[in-house]
Amino acid sequence: MNVVLLGAPGAGKGTLASQMCQAYGLRHISTGDMLRAHMREATALGLQARAYVDAGKLVPDALIIEMVRERLNEPDCQKGCLLDGFPRTAAQAEALGAIAKIDMVLYIDVAVEALVKRISGRRVCGKCGTVYHTSWHDREECAKCGEPLSIREDDKPETVLRRIEVYNQNTEPLIGYYREKGLLKTVDGSGTPEEVFEAVKTLVEKRV
Ligand code: ADP
Ligand code: ZN
Repeated sequence: MNVVLLGAPGAGKGTLASQMCQAYGLRHISTGDMLRAHMREATALGLQARAYVDAGKLVPDALIIEMVRERLNEPDCQKGCLLDGFPRTAAQAEALGAIAKIDMVLYIDVAVEALVKRISGRRVCGKCGTVYHTSWHDREECAKCGEPLSIREDDKPETVLRRIEVYNQNTEPLIGYYREKGLLKTVDGSGTPEEVFEAVKTLVEKRV
């Protein structure tokens, strides 16, 4: 089973992705995480991508599509994967259609006001990547490894608004694209992570 997660920045794609991968044995393919790893390791791709990512803009399609194509061809992806943050443009969606068979597209629906609130409280552990929110984790360190938490460069307020704008313009149209293909399932993303996952489980299991 190959699943695509669609949703605005801050909709909770990353959290839902870890829950789903654990429950269904899917590979988590997050283009955001992949790009951040490239940037940390200062690879050629990372150096090219940084300016776009830090400004809240999309990395050019050609770079992203090649990165995903290579990843999906690796043997561990053959059992099924969960795409988080890809596709984000019509060109990426077309390219994906030629690389892999998509079984389901889950759209996580969250109101814009909630997105901004969620992103501005987001804190990330630089060591293990665990994501926290100040509303339920008010400490400055990671609960798992004790490392200090930080704010993602592109989670700064000006950049967040730019990312939501980019999402509305480029990615939102993909909702209609996948609805027409009969692949779209919408889930209300406004609840807690547990509530959202329950709703998703019902959708996924109904399908089988
Ligand atoms: P979020 O979903 O919270 O916006 P991500 O971690 O998915 O965060 O992405 C962070 C940034 O990485 C994006 O703002 C963009 O610059 C870049 N990026 C990630 N995925 C893609 C993609 N599919 N196409 C172009 N740029 C991407
Ligand atoms: Zn940690």
